Amino acid sequence: MSYAGSCACSAVEIRIEGEPVAVRQCWCRQCQKLAAGGPTHNGIFFTADIALTGVVASNSRVAASGNELTWSFCPACGTQLYGASSARPEMRAVRLGLLDEHGLEPTVAIWVDEAPAGTVLNPALAQYPAQPPAPGAPR
Ligand SMILES: [Zn+2]
Ligand SMILES: [Zn+2]
Repeated sequence: MSYAGSCACSAVEIRIEGEPVAVRQCWCRQCQKLAAGGPTHNGIFFTADIALTGVVASNSRVAASGNELTWSFCPACGTQLYGASSARPEMRAVRLGLLDEHGLEPTVAIWVDEAPAGTVLNPALAQYPAQPPAPGAPR
């Protein structure tokens, strides 16, 4: 299976040859900042399966776990592209908004204890109050 898409301004294009190992919502505070108040929606793919074209910018911070979390985005339009953790460089959390007609549905919601007031969580999703146990992937 393959997936393809682009950022909002089309300067960055992505193609993925492979299936995600997980599809998750993340409600952590950092994701809320990146996602304008809601969760990020992420397909956890192998880094080796992902091909990007265009200029990619990134920033990072050290999480409470001690892992460095990096988030990458299009410097022209600000669209979030993917997240990565220093603990699992072989994986990327690709933001699903990038992908066209992907048909991927989240099955897990993580960091739900940090979801803002008024959040209605899909009861069909497995829920974790914070980071799920391994083999989790980067947020
Ligand atoms: Zn862009
Ligand atoms: Zn998060």
